[in-house]
Amino acid sequence: MASIQAIEQTSVHQIQSGQVIVDLNSVVKELVENSLDAGSTSMEVRFRNHGLDAIEVIDNGSGIAPEDFESVALKHHTSKLRNYDDLEKLDTFGFRGEALASLCALSQLYIITARESDRPRGTRLEFEVSGRLKGTSTVVAQRGTKVVVEKIFHNLPVRKKELEKNIKREYGKVLTLLQAYACISTGVRFTVSNQMPKGAKNTSFSTNGSAATKDNIIKVFGSKSLRDLVALDLKFELQPTSSALSINDGTSREVKVEGHISRPVLGEGRSAPDRQMFYVNSRPCGLPQVAKAFNEVYKSFNLSQSPFIFANLIMDTNSYDVNVSPDKRTILLHDQGVLLESLKEALVELFESQEQTVPQTKP
Ligand code: ADP
Ligand code: MG
Repeated sequence: MASIQAIEQTSVHQIQSGQVIVDLNSVVKELVENSLDAGSTSMEVRFRNHGLDAIEVIDNGSGIAPEDFESVALKHHTSKLRNYDDLEKLDTFGFRGEALASLCALSQLYIITARESDRPRGTRLEFEVSGRLKGTSTVVAQRGTKVVVEKIFHNLPVRKKELEKNIKREYGKVLTLLQAYACISTGVRFTVSNQMPKGAKNTSFSTNGSAATKDNIIKVFGSKSLRDLVALDLKFELQPTSSALSINDGTSREVKVEGHISRPVLGEGRSAPDRQMFYVNSRPCGLPQVAKAFNEVYKSFNLSQSPFIFANLIMDTNSYDVNVSPDKRTILLHDQGVLLESLKEALVELFESQEQTVPQTKP
């Protein structure tokens, strides 16, 4: 027998799933993004025992149509993307059809869903490890979808132990992630709570569906947090570079940066290195270089504190790539170098104009 053999299908599925769902954060992120993609205006995220016992995401979105029940948790089955070309004009968070399939492989998952026309009847869906539909039953349900993930990583003992050991820290990271989604999601009511096995249910934070990100920030971080913020409203054109990617491809070179940032006034406000949220076209993401640029410029005006930052970069969807890492948190900006330079210049200008206005507004 040849020594090179195909890996058995179930194992392939589990190995790949472990790359999509790497930690508590990725579970929550995938479920929340699905609810937002379904057009929800209200969403509740409930943890039991910080997520070790269960993670539930309940939304009032479109619900799932009965004809999709069979394929909803199958790998690479999605309602959001048909072919590779669609990737460039994507306006949903999801596109790979991997999250539910992966969760079936690494946890016990069930879904309760109802469309507007199905109410008050909904359907409870149960799945096999492969993501195949195992069975359905009729239940009473509101419009929307509830996804329940229990026993996460029950079949990956090492990862499960790690999670248990670090659960406080992991839960903290999850809250930070949820805050980022709650702040940017105008018109969506978020409630996040945790219930300990014998304890009371504890609401971590909530927003009330306001149309302004500012209101969401106040709800999430408290009204004090906003006192010393200035509005970010930057706009610049990226100068063309010799990069092959930017030659004559019809891509708009305008970048807008919207949001809020601490005023760089010494002694005012509070240091907030843990309150820095970055987005590209409203998609929360890690942008370490952009974060560094913000912090550097801020430091040149205020050495002693770190700013609160809520920054949404609005740019042509052709000018970056989200399909870089399985969790889509890493975004590749094609012209990052040029962007960083223009961003820094615009920030310096903003802060300089602030310095001049500050003394005048003081009593
Ligand atoms: P993707 O989001 O990449 O499409 P997922 O595995 O996360 O892949 O979800 C598979 C499909 O299940 C989605 O394309 C969507 O049609 C449906 N779905 C998942 N969650 C929800 C939800 N909360 N409400 C409505 N439909 C959902
Ligand atoms: Mg998804």
